[in-house]
Amino acid sequence: MKIAICPGSFDPVTNGHIDIIERASKMADKLIVAVLENSSKQPSFSTNERVELLKKSTTYLKNIEIVSFSGLLIDFAKKNNARLIVKGLRAVSDFEYEFQMSLINKELSPDIETVFLTSAAKYMFLSSSVIKEVAKNKGDISAFVPKKILKDVVERLSK
Ligand code: ADP
Repeated sequence: MKIAICPGSFDPVTNGHIDIIERASKMADKLIVAVLENSSKQPSFSTNERVELLKKSTTYLKNIEIVSFSGLLIDFAKKNNARLIVKGLRAVSDFEYEFQMSLINKELSPDIETVFLTSAAKYMFLSSSVIKEVAKNKGDISAFVPKKILKDVVERLSK
């Protein structure tokens, strides 16, 4: 069975993430969406909240599993028998960091491949932090997050 991993903070999940998750789910028998627990960024949503928002947004995708992880992504991948890491690339600004990460991961574990999917043009500007900024200032984020979680995200960020 071909298992792939889509890692990220998903703080919270955006339509840009969903686009990558949908496309990645077609590249494997099973896609594990891995929510990073202890990222160096201080997340706005708890790990549990981020997992639940992802679950609620992706009920229609049958071959995916949403879990959280801490520690090295490569160790998590090995433990789950995943040979493929799928990441989204928005712009040049993502490139340097992602390039470095994929080279390090390749050094640590040569048989795990990282592939990059280019962002859908309409989501190139989307990031979790931009959405949080707009929502906190009472702006409309309905075009940026899945419909099913819009209310949850808006309520939570207006607190
Ligand atoms: P961010 O906090 O920057 O939104 P995450 O750490 O949650 O991002 O990102 C997880 C993965 O999703 C990364 O590979 C990131 O490049 C990708 N990603 C995030 N937003 C988008 C988008 N709008 N389009 C394509 N890929 C994206």
